[in-house]
Amino acid sequence: MHTVTLIPGDGIGPEITKAVTDIFAAAQVPVAWEEHNAGLVAFETSGELLPQALLDSLDKTRVALKGPLTTPVGKGFRSINITLRQKYNLYQNVRPAQTTPGIKSRYENVDLVLFRENTEGLYSGLEYYDDRLGIADSISRVTVEGCHKIVRAAFAYADKNGRKKVTLAHKANILKLAGKLMLDAGKEISAEYPHITYEDKIIDNMCMQLVIRPEQFDVVVTTNLFGDILSDLCAGLVGGLGVVVGANIGDDAAIFEAVHGSAPDIAGQGKANPTALLRSALMMLHHLGEKDHANRIENALTKTLQQPEKLTGDLGGKASTSEFAQAIIDNLA
Ligand code: NAD
Repeated sequence: MHTVTLIPGDGIGPEITKAVTDIFAAAQVPVAWEEHNAGLVAFETSGELLPQALLDSLDKTRVALKGPLTTPVGKGFRSINITLRQKYNLYQNVRPAQTTPGIKSRYENVDLVLFRENTEGLYSGLEYYDDRLGIADSISRVTVEGCHKIVRAAFAYADKNGRKKVTLAHKANILKLAGKLMLDAGKEISAEYPHITYEDKIIDNMCMQLVIRPEQFDVVVTTNLFGDILSDLCAGLVGGLGVVVGANIGDDAAIFEAVHGSAPDIAGQGKANPTALLRSALMMLHHLGEKDHANRIENALTKTLQQPEKLTGDLGGKASTSEFAQAIIDNLA
């Protein structure tokens, strides 16, 4: 039995979390959940954004499944997601984007995995405002170690999973110092993997290439802000935010989550698609070594996605979150 910390999250979080825990229970997956709130919900009940009980649980389990958390825009508290990523040094944000039968998308044959550096760059939290001068500084700090770790993680993944190519996306023509650290890491580490093709692309060209011919990409690695933007772009290539997944991985801890946010526009209405969080939970099962359980649920999900009447509204169906989850449970057999 694996003990896993469960953070239901805000907005649609509790609805999609329930869908996932119901499916895991029906499939008799050997996972025991320790449920804790974070963010706004936690603050309302305990006065803390990151309650100590949650941190104690994470310190013990070192693995969590997390629903989306609301972050106030342009004001208020700092993102809990970023705080957790930095506290547990979850330096890899791994986001696969694959076209899936049954999920409408503009492209066919997209099968790429994005590795986004998760703790540095413009998200380092180094922001200053000079009231007198009306100047805001948001400092992007990258380190040699950070660049090496994320590039190494991308190559190690490519090597382990039989991937053929790694593309490093950067802006070293303008950000000459920070960009060069990534390029240096790419040059050095790619030399250790001569059987994997290595290329680098300037981020603006990368965006265009992804839209024109996404099937040319295999594993992509980049810094924090570029990765944040590219990951949503990649979600758009394969059917949208409701279906793509993300894992925040460090050397000794991991938090698995959906890429989408708390979707306040549809929260509490039973309209949310739980696919992204379910797929994150399946990535988590692979991480825990429970490959057979992951494959069984994945097969049931694939079957369900080909039954249009069982799908949620974002996928063109009319089913509710719980009806979709029940269809997956029915397909487990
Ligand atoms: P969002 O992802 O919440 O919503 C964008 C659009 O996609 C909305 O129309 C929404 O209804 C739809 N959508 C998202 N997930 C869906 C699902 N599972 N099923 C069906 N439709 C879905 O993005 P936003 O509106 O920009 O952000 C809302 C809040 O979420 C913000 O506070 C933001 O900070 C937060 N956020 C959190 C995370 C996270 O916790 N990892 C990620 C992104 C945004």
